[in-house]
Amino acid sequence: MPVNGLDPAAVIDELTTAIEPCLVASAGPRYFGFVTGGSLDAATAADLLAVGWDQNAFNLVSSPAAALVEEVAGAWLKDVLGLPAPASVGFATGGQGANTVGLAAGRHAVLAQAGWDVERDGLIGAPPVQVLANEERHATIDRSLRLLGLGTAAIVEVPARADGAIDPDALGAQLESRRPGPTIVCLQAGNVTTGACDDFPAAIAAAHRHDAWVHVDGAFGLWAAASPTTRALVEGMEAADSWACDAHKWLNVPYDSGLAICAHPEVHAEAVSYTAAYLVGQGATVPSASDLVLESSRRARAFAVWAALRQLGCRGVADLVERCCALALRFEAALQAAPGVDVVAPVVLNQVLVDFGDDVRTDRAIGALQADGTCWAGATTWRGRRRMRISVSGWTTTEADVDRSVAAIVAAAASA
Ligand SMILES: *Cc1c(COP(=O)(O)O)cnc(C)c1O
Repeated sequence: MPVNGLDPAAVIDELTTAIEPCLVASAGPRYFGFVTGGSLDAATAADLLAVGWDQNAFNLVSSPAAALVEEVAGAWLKDVLGLPAPASVGFATGGQGANTVGLAAGRHAVLAQAGWDVERDGLIGAPPVQVLANEERHATIDRSLRLLGLGTAAIVEVPARADGAIDPDALGAQLESRRPGPTIVCLQAGNVTTGACDDFPAAIAAAHRHDAWVHVDGAFGLWAAASPTTRALVEGMEAADSWACDAHKWLNVPYDSGLAICAHPEVHAEAVSYTAAYLVGQGATVPSASDLVLESSRRARAFAVWAALRQLGCRGVADLVERCCALALRFEAALQAAPGVDVVAPVVLNQVLVDFGDDVRTDRAIGALQADGTCWAGATTWRGRRRMRISVSGWTTTEADVDRSVAAIVAAAASA
């Protein structure tokens, strides 16, 4: 820590000079790592304004602007995703935060059904809560369950089908044979490796028959609902009780921006709200913005979400989803035809899973591709084998970008 301060312009020069070599071009058109997406122009500008205006998005009193934009953007989100209009929308930090809020709402509801007030009495002495979840769930679910005091031992793993989606028959059987009591079923729209989506009509009907709360982790996959060409993949998910989604992934909004949506606004607020005498505006009949997330003081991140939705319109969101899916199929066709490269799972959404023959060659090819720098894709282990993951989620990616990237991948395969 330097003793003396510095002129602001010099500070920024120092920062940019120092970090520029370490920046990742994740907003660029040939970045295919982690389902990141870039940032739409209007969203980037709105986010800069959110920083400059420095609004505290706590509630209607701390910033009417932030609270009202959350309301409008929330209504648009439900519209474009085909979610029930009365649902509550919390503007969370990301999928992790949104999963935690959704599962907190579920924890509240299933324990209330059993006559237990978890917010007052905690979990010590509470009836045990079981969480039935896909063995291929995202790792953030486990962390949410740890933080909520349910623990990962509460998870009853449900086998997945070959594509990574939950096996609905196995789910049905496990609901039948489970220990009776409070139960949450955790489903997924968009497996992070294959893009596979769970069979929502079958899974949700079975879960609700057993009075379970259904939470859907749809960090990126929920956006499939925005296009008629992919809508069938997530059909029926609107019958769930809570949903987690990210705006900073497929909607192409800057970090950090997640969505915690709940079909039961009163349960949502009861699970995560709090009040204090000085927080004027609290205790109203309608939950305020911060009653739906884990933070109190917050950036007005809904400005960027609103701006992205306004820039695109329903048609534009659908186009974005369709374009990414079409480009993923273009990757699949070109790589399938190339020597030494294999696409492992059929492309159903925007994820492409690639194999280069064996684990050693796959890791070598990924290393060569990343060193080449034409594009970036990451490694994973899927079903015990090393694979390369290509995620097409940026709004700037074109067919030419895919073709250039395919050539780089084929060259990397040849060098491995
Ligand atoms: C990315 C992702 C998450 C975590 O979201 P963050 O925004 O990184 O917190 C959770 N689930 C799925 C399926 C994801 O793809």
